[in-house]
Amino acid sequence: MRIPFLSRGGGMMATDPVCNMEVDTKKPNGGTFEHKGETYYFCGPGCNRAFEKEPEAYLSGEKKMEM
Ligand SMILES: [Zn+2]
Repeated sequence: MRIPFLSRGGGMMATDPVCNMEVDTKKPNGGTFEHKGETYYFCGPGCNRAFEKEPEAYLSGEKKMEM
């Protein structure tokens, strides 16, 4: 059985769309943000805020934050 990497709940890891770090979906340090029905998880509040401003830019890969 194939287990999707981006699964909701269950202590899975998600990828922060801003810096591409792995984030624990159960306790994301940067909280979550909902965009077009999808929930995104962040490693820190800075990434959450950056994504909130321009979600499309990060999702399309146009913008990236260097860690
Ligand atoms: Zn981040």
